[in-house]
Amino acid sequence: MPQSRTTADVLIVGAGAAGATAAIDLAEAGADVLVLEALPAFGGTAAVSGGGICIAGSALQQQRGLDDSPDKALEDWLAFGGQEADEAWAELYLRSSAPDLFDWLTNMGMEWTGINQQEGNRSPRWHAPKGSGHGLMQVVENHTRTLPIRWEYNTRVVDLVQTGGRVTGVVAERTDGIATEFSGDNVLLASGGFNNNADMVRTYAAKQARGHKVLLGGGRGATGDGHTILERLGAEFTHMDIIWMYPYGTPDPTDQNAVRGLVLRGMDSDIWVNQRAERFHNEALRGGASGASALLAQDPPQCWAIIDGKMAQRVVVSDPAYQVRGAPNREAIQHLLDSSPYVARGTTVAELADSAGLDATRLEQAIAQHNALLASGAEVDPLYGRPLARLDPIEMPPYYAIQFLPLARKNFGGVRTDLECRVLRPDGSAIDGLFAAGELAGMAGGHINGRAGLEGTMLGPSLFSGRVAARAMLGE
Ligand SMILES: Cc1cc2nc3c(=O)[nH]c(=O)nc-3n(C[C@H](O)[C@H](O)[C@H](O)COP(=O)(O)OP(=O)(O)OC[C@H]3O[C@@H](n4cnc5c(N)ncnc54)[C@H](O)[C@@H]3O)c2cc1C
Repeated sequence: MPQSRTTADVLIVGAGAAGATAAIDLAEAGADVLVLEALPAFGGTAAVSGGGICIAGSALQQQRGLDDSPDKALEDWLAFGGQEADEAWAELYLRSSAPDLFDWLTNMGMEWTGINQQEGNRSPRWHAPKGSGHGLMQVVENHTRTLPIRWEYNTRVVDLVQTGGRVTGVVAERTDGIATEFSGDNVLLASGGFNNNADMVRTYAAKQARGHKVLLGGGRGATGDGHTILERLGAEFTHMDIIWMYPYGTPDPTDQNAVRGLVLRGMDSDIWVNQRAERFHNEALRGGASGASALLAQDPPQCWAIIDGKMAQRVVVSDPAYQVRGAPNREAIQHLLDSSPYVARGTTVAELADSAGLDATRLEQAIAQHNALLASGAEVDPLYGRPLARLDPIEMPPYYAIQFLPLARKNFGGVRTDLECRVLRPDGSAIDGLFAAGELAGMAGGHINGRAGLEGTMLGPSLFSGRVAARAMLGE
């Protein structure tokens, strides 16, 4: 039996992107807010993210002479996301992104280091905060410290409490296993995605990956708890099988089940070959829409990224175990390349092929053709359209073949909400007292992105939908 304890005007589940922005707006309006977080620290996946936010029509874009507007961005968004995108939510987000995110965060003390152009965008829109996701969430956390918000860490919400058809609280378990009941006038679930839950990824990625293995690439708290709780309650879920994947993940050899993925970057001169040792894609396009789709189309959906000894010195692994104070830990990275069962090695290409189980003649041909093209001074690879400027040939032993599998990063589907973040039942009615924001709600509304995202369209809508939920609870 849970011990009944604390009450608050609003209970927020999750101290990540959506939970934090909602807490700020609610507390600034005078509401008594209690945030319950399963992990020991603030920030959620947002704090380990790249931090990029898609914003259309910001002051920074104007300063840099970049022509952009919410209308133009909406056209790109819908063209990229397809019919699966939620147009009403996308429009609401884009019209609000400059005032409600860029200006709001800048006033909070956020500094921006640049604006990148990502696939599918006709203008650069990926606003990069100083210090990436960590820096962004640090600024947000500093701001929360100026407000009387209450935080309970190591407190994992496991269920909702209902009274007369209205959600009036939650049941949470602490790390010591003690269950506690919290009550509130409203509850906001902002518990993030499920890409750190092997069962859920296996189930929902089955269509995209045709039953083959997909690596886990979500944040540590992305366990899908909110989904499980809402499923039990009978909420409506939508587009759950659209998972935004990246093609440059390799199994983490320290993970017993080899299901967690490590993301490898800094390999701009690699070539990718499939199990037949044939190239199949323009390796310059490594995003979720192009790179992941090309990888998923292979049989089996995996490939080998081929690099040489010189390129090995530039490999970066996006994981704290391979970094020292934010810089690449070369010793740890070299150890990974030398010892991972998912990396093949060879002092000759034939040896490499043998180690990777690839056809040696075809692999030698693929590398020789690529090197010859670079030596010829050609600007573009005639096979796949890859720009060749500044690429290095693959010629310095030892050679490495790193096994790449699709890596599940972001959930583009989730629980359906209305435009005020109220959780909906399959019949379209709202569940009283209950709101959902962030990746649990496919970033916002259930499926704001659709089939593909312009990038920065996960963190941005997650931060924004937390604010929308807060306004709705405040009756604004
Ligand atoms: C490595 C990486 C890089 C990324 N980079 C970008 C990027 O550059 N741009 C972009 O747009 N998107 C990016 N994303 C996606 C983006 O970070 C997420 O979509 C966003 O953080 C989701 O926000 P959220 O508030 O829904 O969830 P989160 O920020 O994950 O917060 C959810 C919180 O809820 C907590 N929680 C979960 N279950 C419970 C429970 N039962 N009880 C209590 N608390 C619970 C979690 O521990 C977590 O702290 C990236 C994702 C990853 C993994």
